[in-house]
Amino acid sequence: MNLNNQKQQTQKKTDGDRPDRSSIAASTEQLPILEESSASIIESKASKPLSRPTFKRELSDAEFKQAAKRITTGMIESIHEAKENMNNQQINENNADEVGRLLAAARFAAERHTEQRRKGAQAEPYINHPLAVADILRNVGGVGDVDILISALLHDTIEDTETTPAELEDRFGKRVRALVEEVTDDKNLPKPRRKELQIEHAPHLSPGAQQIKLADKTTNVSDVAFNHAPDWTLERRREYLVWSEAVVKGLRGCNEKLEANFDRVVGMAWAKLNEDAS
Ligand code: ZN
Repeated sequence: MNLNNQKQQTQKKTDGDRPDRSSIAASTEQLPILEESSASIIESKASKPLSRPTFKRELSDAEFKQAAKRITTGMIESIHEAKENMNNQQINENNADEVGRLLAAARFAAERHTEQRRKGAQAEPYINHPLAVADILRNVGGVGDVDILISALLHDTIEDTETTPAELEDRFGKRVRALVEEVTDDKNLPKPRRKELQIEHAPHLSPGAQQIKLADKTTNVSDVAFNHAPDWTLERRREYLVWSEAVVKGLRGCNEKLEANFDRVVGMAWAKLNEDAS
């Protein structure tokens, strides 16, 4: 409807809800209402009887346009808001899926490691270790990539249980399989060579695998200092810290927070070893 048509209708009294121009009348004092919202304009029409002509006057074209613009803007905002709500709901559903995958990985790892214990004096259930690695990644390193967190939970399943890479791919996808494979040692090689290769490979790992490795080394260094295997000599524990620092040297640059955390933990570990030596 163009403005000429609107003008022709100005004499027409309306009693319905249609925000017809002729019904949007206001006194000079009431004009600020137009600054508020379309709702208040319509409300003012409904609450003020039309039989008080001293408080009514015709809206100017500019005022009418302004009122119409506000109504339209309000509608567009409502549509945007509805759209946003739908998007948020979608995001929440996606998050629920990610949480579901993460829980499935935690359960899978717990089942695979169920017979295993950590080497420490307390012989904790093995699953404590991958849980600690995933926790550090998320809550210290701020890692939000769920594939990385899932891979952290599963990082020792290929190396230390009967789990195959194909099985991980089947359950958790190609990327998780690739990340876990990256942090898995080749058990066909003798242990000293495997340890050398960790130092050599560290700078060439993907950023995700580097972060997993860094969190893994952090928990191991902590265990070797504060919860070590009863048969580990001081010398063996020292060698482990030196080797871990060499591996971590090749991981630098992947995550500042994780690196700072490693530095803090390895500092505490050295202090504990010095204390144990005295
Ligand atoms: Zn590990």
